[in-house]
Amino acid sequence: MSRISITGSDRVFVLTGAGISAESGLPTFRAEDGLWAGYRIEDVCTPDAWQRNPAEVWAFYSARRAAGAKAQPNPAHFALAQLEHQLGDRFFLCTQNVDDLHERAGSRRLVHMHGELAKSRCERDCGRPPVSDHAIYSSLAEVGRCSCGGRLRPHIVFFGEIPFEMDRIQAEIAQSTLMLVIGTSGSVYPAAGFVNWARQKGARTVYIGPEPPLNAYAFTQVVEGKAGETLPGLFSVA
Ligand code: NAD
Ligand code: ZN
Repeated sequence: MSRISITGSDRVFVLTGAGISAESGLPTFRAEDGLWAGYRIEDVCTPDAWQRNPAEVWAFYSARRAAGAKAQPNPAHFALAQLEHQLGDRFFLCTQNVDDLHERAGSRRLVHMHGELAKSRCERDCGRPPVSDHAIYSSLAEVGRCSCGGRLRPHIVFFGEIPFEMDRIQAEIAQSTLMLVIGTSGSVYPAAGFVNWARQKGARTVYIGPEPPLNAYAFTQVVEGKAGETLPGLFSVA
């Protein structure tokens, strides 16, 4: 397998998806049966689901928290942390994942565009910032309230909501010369469109994962393989 060369003038933007955490034992999004960890997405990941049945939404995200706390970063997470160490502020990581495996592997220059499992915030978006919350709730009665009276909701971008940090993400993509996209099916927008923004700016675009994504046509190169087996040793940094 040929290595990806990164020169002293490259700026690297990385987008990761559920696939990078698959080898850590966290299930990816849509399995064959159309369910995510046994739930229908519409029942647990939409603003409508939160309005109708907050107890079920919290049951789902409590289970995700429990699984996330048990999982360990894999060699792919560590390889990206090492690349950041080598490139400093010429490296930027945007993850669609809500787990904290990138941070636990040592990544620092990163944003969680779809939120973070280990935080909660006011359902009324009253302006108070998200709070750290590792609780695994067994009933809705245990879930706290914001000082404004709103119930705490998971700090997660539900389907139909606008992802976080889009201005910063756009600015980082505009400056980048190499985009690496790892373990994402290319079906969830706006993330699936980032590769097109990078190409418009003339960046090289590389996808890494066991199968080509839906938007494979937009990549300069597709490296087929599992992230944890492929990423270590993939980069040659000049
Ligand atoms: P997806 O489930 O739609 O696609 C997963 C992709 O990972 C597929 O393309 C698959 O080929 C690839 N993959 C599977 N095993 C892999 C491996 N070992 N190495 C590399 N790639 C591998 O995931 P998505 O595109 O990220 O979209 C799902 C949405 O659900 C995201 O918005 C994300 O927020 C959320 N999600 C997050 C987590 C998490 O935080 N760990 C887990 C599941 C879903
Ligand atoms: Zn509030």
